[in-house]
This record gives sequence, structure tokens and C-alpha cells, in this order.
Amino acid sequence: MNLFAEYARWLVGRIGDAFFPYETPDFVPMTIILDPGHGMSNRKSGVFDPGAVSDGFRECDIALAWANELRTILMEAGHKVVRTRVDHSDEAPVGRRADIARKFGGNIMLSIHCNAADGKANGTETFYRGVANEGIAKRINRCVVEALGTRDRGVKTESASQHSRLAVMDFQPCFLLEIGFIDNPADRDRMIDPVKRKAACEALAKALP
Ligand SMILES: [Zn+2]
Repeated sequence: MNLFAEYARWLVGRIGDAFFPYETPDFVPMTIILDPGHGMSNRKSGVFDPGAVSDGFRECDIALAWANELRTILMEAGHKVVRTRVDHSDEAPVGRRADIARKFGGNIMLSIHCNAADGKANGTETFYRGVANEGIAKRINRCVVEALGTRDRGVKTESASQHSRLAVMDFQPCFLLEIGFIDNPADRDRMIDPVKRKAACEALAKALP
């Protein structure tokens, strides 16, 4: 190939990159569904469900803050993000959240929650459905454990959850992240720390797609 032909090929490649930046093989834009746990009409129509509450801190607030942080990072990366609820007045029955994910053609769904127990229990865990999704669940859990410094409680199938079957997981693949324990002061401090939250969400934005 002569030098001119080689230059012309290079030039066409560069122009192509400029016009179609998403067509490079290492980036595929996805539709990611973020499900901030609890909220208006979650369990009962017209009744606000704050989730676990401890010392005035509410699970619904922490979940929404994490979803919004992660949403910003994912959108900046070029992904499409759909939230199952956008604020505390937005009605989102737990039985309808998988429908939202389907309706918007989600590629993957992350449901965000906090645990609560006896004040002593602590750590991060992620639930999933189906052996094929165990690897992604592990990646999700590791992102949070490393950014927050929480104890790694590991990944579990939904049958090990408090509900034995999780309605959100009627959409697949779906992962339910329990960031930490809201009634454990050390875990709670980590979950509401904006610097740690951002670091965790930046790692999650790379692990999800
Ligand atoms: Zn919850």
C-alpha cells in the first residue's frame, strides 16, 4: 500500500470516530434500570413506605441518593437510564417495577436497598436470580465493599432473601444491592458519605453494563 492510500484510510477512520463515537467496539450504550427501593405506594396504594428507618435516617432517601448519583455517571458515559421512581411522591408499587423495566427495554436492572437488623449486623450483600448472573452480582458487591470499606457478606440467590422471592426479579437480569445496614452506625456513616457514595457509583457504572 502506498503512503497516500494509507493516509486516506487513517483519515477516514478518524472522521468515522468523530461522527460515530459509540460505534467503537469497546462501548455499547445500554438501557439501565435503576430501582430506588421503597417510596410512595410501594406496598399499599397511597401509603408512603420509607423502608428501614433508624435514628431519623430512612432507607428510601439513601436508595434514591445512590440511584441519582449512579444515574448521573451512567448518563455521562452515554447510557440511557430509567428510574422506577424519580422522587418520593412518584407512585411505584413493588409489583410494577419489573413492568417498568420491561416497558423501557432495559438491558439490566439494579434495585438499591439498605439492610436493618439488630444494630450490630453490618456489611454489603447482593441478591440475584439464576447461576448465570452470579458473576455480575459478585462484581456489583465488590464495587461497594471496596469503595465503602464495608464487610463483604457475599452474594446470595433471591431465595436467601427475607421474601424468598423478589418481585423486582421478574425482570431479568436484575440485582438487588443491600448497600449496608442502616441501623449500624458505622455502615450508615459510610452509606451517607458523599465521597464514598460517588466512588462506589463510579465503580458500579463500570461493573453494570
Ligand atoms: Zn429495602
